[in-house]
Amino acid sequence: MLNLNNIEVIYNNVILVLKGVSLKVPEGKIITLLGANGAGKTTTLKAISGLLHTELGEVTDGNIYLGENRIDQMGPEEIFSLGVVQILEGRLLFEQLTVEENLVIGAISRRNKNAIQEDIKKVYGLFPKLETMKQRTSGYLSGGERQMIVIGRALMSNPKIMLLDEPSMGLSPLLVEEIFQIIKRINKDGTTMLLVEQNASVALSVADYGYVMEDGRIVMSGPSERLIDNEDIKEFYLGLSFMGKRRSYREVKHYKRRKRWLG
Ligand code: ATP
Repeated sequence: MLNLNNIEVIYNNVILVLKGVSLKVPEGKIITLLGANGAGKTTTLKAISGLLHTELGEVTDGNIYLGENRIDQMGPEEIFSLGVVQILEGRLLFEQLTVEENLVIGAISRRNKNAIQEDIKKVYGLFPKLETMKQRTSGYLSGGERQMIVIGRALMSNPKIMLLDEPSMGLSPLLVEEIFQIIKRINKDGTTMLLVEQNASVALSVADYGYVMEDGRIVMSGPSERLIDNEDIKEFYLGLSFMGKRRSYREVKHYKRRKRWLG
């Protein structure tokens, strides 16, 4: 469904951030993109959604296809109209508006009022808590409630593919579990997902396939079951790194090779 082929991204005409990234998101699947701070995960999502253009970034090499459509030079509105929705990090809401008004805004490009009402019901089905607080002003809500609204709002555009940026950030383990169960349900109902996460274990527990990114490149990929069992991933991402320091994935590999070599 979505294909990134060897893309390079440059900000402000000078800063090379993505250095040849290729990845595939097949229809109906959940694909996760893992990596440490600054690896280039958010930039990858913005390259897909077209939001890169709003930050003086551009795809300067390679290409991105959504089905038959080449989208890497399209603007964000056009890409959105093809069914791609990005949920940004930070859970931005229209703070003065109610929960329900925030949801309705997600359907801004749609005309069929009945279908919109149906979809609001579906969102409340997924997040019963939002229904109980639909008239509340959204500015005062907790992190978990805000995360539910931004996911619900994205669903209101009836997307084919959802790009989710760190939904687990700052949430308690219980809430993370709840949000990821819902992500799974949304996927089962037919929405393809590309999920950026730093929480590798929870992301791999719902994803079909994962990519690991470091310094603007993909350094590893594979089916989730294989990545979960990978010792280097455990060491680097699950906090089991040596000498109490969190190192890069490549450093871990070098260190291990040297250790093996020296016995
Ligand atoms: P995080 O988990 O911290 O969000 P990330 O993997 O999503 O990290 P990006 O946000 O894509 O990483 O950033 C990758 C690199 O690009 C970083 O070095 C960052 O400083 C740089 N960068 C991001 N946005 C811009 C911008 N608008 N202009 C210039 N450089 C940027």
